[in-house]
Amino acid sequence: MKNLLTKVVSAALIGAMGLALAGCAGSSNKLTVEDGKLIMATNAFFPPYEFYEGDKIVGIDQEIAAEVATRLGLELEIQDVEFDSIITGVQAGKYDIGCAGMTVTEDRLKSVNFTTPYATGIQVIIVADGSDIADADALIAGDYTVGVQQGTTGDIYMSDEVGDDRVERFNKGADAVLALTNGQVDAVVIDNEPANAFVEANEGLVILDTPYAVEDYAMCLNKDNEELLNKINDALKAMTDDGTIAAIIEKYIPSNG
Ligand code: GLN
Repeated sequence: MKNLLTKVVSAALIGAMGLALAGCAGSSNKLTVEDGKLIMATNAFFPPYEFYEGDKIVGIDQEIAAEVATRLGLELEIQDVEFDSIITGVQAGKYDIGCAGMTVTEDRLKSVNFTTPYATGIQVIIVADGSDIADADALIAGDYTVGVQQGTTGDIYMSDEVGDDRVERFNKGADAVLALTNGQVDAVVIDNEPANAFVEANEGLVILDTPYAVEDYAMCLNKDNEELLNKINDALKAMTDDGTIAAIIEKYIPSNG
């Protein structure tokens, strides 16, 4: 009897400890990395999604994330990091979201969750005016070198299709474009909107009118934070329904000139 009682008591104790532990886990399992804040990692050299205006980071991603934060009662804090370290930082619990014109891919979905997509991106090919590269097939078949931004889908596709030895990787898209203007690479594969901005800012470059791949942009989150994912998805849905997202995109990418 005594034994049985001890067992019952220990079971109850273990149960209570379990609850206490669960309680701890619950309270340490905060909605965001820092209470009251939504910490966003981006790489702020990707106009018009993120770029510097003076010392402020602005753009489509910043405005959408700021509005999401407001609707969640949080304050947005933006950290400008290498594109390549956004996903690892989100996985490590350093940032709440990665928001960087980031394409949803099967491979990335193994490491992070993605919100509902809020924009579309197209991979395009930039070449020097008068280049004999007419399309992606020519670029792949020929002996050309391609500049890409390290870790982006452009990098992933090109490394796959033309092979490592013909791909030059740069930290920033703008550096890849600079290498193209210097004749250091024969083409750059990058997302269409930054491509437009870079071509406008540099003479003698053209975007081939054969888009290479159409992609969805979404924010990425830590796989363990479904609560934040659901809240952000709800906010994004409301912002789609009430026209907020369309208005932000239209502000930076006017549909009819
Ligand atoms: N959309 C591309 C990707 O996700 C590039 C994003 C970026 O350079 N910011 O890989």
